[in-house]
Amino acid sequence: MGACAELHRRSIHDREAFWAEEARRIHWHRRFDTVLEYSRPPFARWFVDGETNLCYNAVDRHLADRGDQPALIHISTETGTEKTWTYRELHAAVNTMAAVIAAQGVGRGDRVLLYMPMIPEAVFAMLACARLGAVHSVVFGGFAAASCASRIDDAKPKLLVTADAGLRGGRAIHYQPLVNEALRLAQHPPRKVLVVNRGIDPDFRPLAGRDLDYAALAREHRGAQVPVAWLESNEPSYILYTSGTTGKPKGVQRDTGGYAVALAASMDYLYAGKPGETMFTTSDVGWVVGHSYIVYGPLIHGMTTILYEGLPIRPDAGIWWKIVAEKKVSVMFSSPTAARVLKKQDPAYLKQYDLSSLRHLFLAGEPLDEPTHRWLHEAIGKPVIDHYWQTETGWPILSLAPGIEPAQVKYGSPGFPVFGYDLKLLRESDATEAAPGEKGVLTIRPPLPPGCMSTVWGDDERFVNTYFRTFPKQLLYSTFDWGLRDAEGYTFILGRTDDVINVAGHRIGTREIEEAVQSHANIAEVAVVGVADPVKGQMPLAFAVVKDQSKIDTEERRAQQEQEVLAAVDHHLGGIARPKRVLFVSLLPKTRSGKLLRRSLQALAEGRDPGDLTTIEDPAALEQIRGVLGQ
Ligand code: AMP
Repeated sequence: MGACAELHRRSIHDREAFWAEEARRIHWHRRFDTVLEYSRPPFARWFVDGETNLCYNAVDRHLADRGDQPALIHISTETGTEKTWTYRELHAAVNTMAAVIAAQGVGRGDRVLLYMPMIPEAVFAMLACARLGAVHSVVFGGFAAASCASRIDDAKPKLLVTADAGLRGGRAIHYQPLVNEALRLAQHPPRKVLVVNRGIDPDFRPLAGRDLDYAALAREHRGAQVPVAWLESNEPSYILYTSGTTGKPKGVQRDTGGYAVALAASMDYLYAGKPGETMFTTSDVGWVVGHSYIVYGPLIHGMTTILYEGLPIRPDAGIWWKIVAEKKVSVMFSSPTAARVLKKQDPAYLKQYDLSSLRHLFLAGEPLDEPTHRWLHEAIGKPVIDHYWQTETGWPILSLAPGIEPAQVKYGSPGFPVFGYDLKLLRESDATEAAPGEKGVLTIRPPLPPGCMSTVWGDDERFVNTYFRTFPKQLLYSTFDWGLRDAEGYTFILGRTDDVINVAGHRIGTREIEEAVQSHANIAEVAVVGVADPVKGQMPLAFAVVKDQSKIDTEERRAQQEQEVLAAVDHHLGGIARPKRVLFVSLLPKTRSGKLLRRSLQALAEGRDPGDLTTIEDPAALEQIRGVLGQ
């Protein structure tokens, strides 16, 4: 048995001893009494009665040995600026932010919503919340006001932290109009909004009585020393919303001690990073990858982390490799979409820089196609490691583990089960184990390992009903992904089992997009499916039935109607959810019992065979679909 398989075996068969040992990687203010309490399946409580703090582990703990080592490097190719914070400086900045936030009456257990671009204050605010024991909920800065409002109503934050603007490709995204609209729509708006004014939005005017200027308050609280709140290991550290099959996003609740331990172990075993080295993760702090591997993971591990604001191809497609060379990055983490974007550029950019510091490039978030995997591997001459996980788990489920043994990459596969995950690939029909080469549902036998979601925020029942009800007779966590294992044990991911699509690594429920399309007054009915896209992996495509036909009776009016519907999606969800097209039909293909034939629709849209259509109510619907698709 290889070292990696042996580690996995021990983590499952000698679970508590394994995790008790891993728990030594972090600082405990009070040692835990019980490694795992599992008296109420599927709710797992790790390191019970242990007391710790994410901010202390990410910052304070390193002051003695690494006070002068860079902790955070912020590079913005949008503003043309770069700034470094040592661990000591990061400690001071986080304390200042914590004092500002605490002065607003925020304390242990209170929620703080962060709606921020990729600026250092986003990292300070996350760590400051962790320091205070407050629960942060970062909402991706690209989401629309309505998405922000629904998250506000679920999390009921005491404070919202934002900036005047974000920048993308030289274009400013002004946040104040979005925040105003979100607070207007929300039933439980926070009373105060803390604004980091970057001076980008010339129209930004603080709203008296609501908006607080961060720069002014930071001056007031400079030098503050804010005590660390020691949390019981299972107290929540943050909430991160993610999409599912319903229109209402779920608040993934993360624990504290288990998360710190799991991240620390993953930094060593999986990412093979060493304290003192530099990690560059190209994600956004609004996503789980940003939480785990821009902020908490590398800092807990004593590494230097890079926060990058900008595009991968601006000023040119060499920018990321330039950063790797200049900052001597040893661990890089990006997405397949970014890799496909870079693949379309001149390959000379890759040869221009000295990448000798880089040991591995990790990619995750969406399927990595074999040609892109092969191209990137050959272009950079380093192992490119595809690994698989979800917002829910917070850290990898399937990966190679170059920190334990050299990576044997197999193109198209994210590798093997990661320690801690008791993975089962099951036949959908009867929950028996799929044979090698046979497709099955990828499930995890609970208890979920440390650091995985502890529940859905405020809704234990939803947690159980959403994730543990795929197989009626067994309590198993469903990843909602199809998988396949080959004879050597490499697992391949074959796509989602539910109606969730993955656009450039961002998970979006088709139901959410359908609701946004339907918010347009003239839409009677709509079906949204994900279709293959050469760069983004998948794109939504909408088939809509209108109420008033006269609105689409000429080419011009039809185009106008399509634009209006797209604008409605932008307004409700943000540009990331915008369908590629809205195609108008008078009938959607359904079964006789009224169920939408989604898979057939998707197959047709991708030019494939629509499959079994014996249950279709009206075959004319399919002819229409073929017609609008030009088939
Ligand atoms: P999110 O929680 O938004 O990160 O989305 C998680 C989903 O993205 C998973 O359930 C998969 O469907 C997909 N995913 C993530 N990583 C991979 C990967 N390496 N290969 C294939 N699909 C992936």
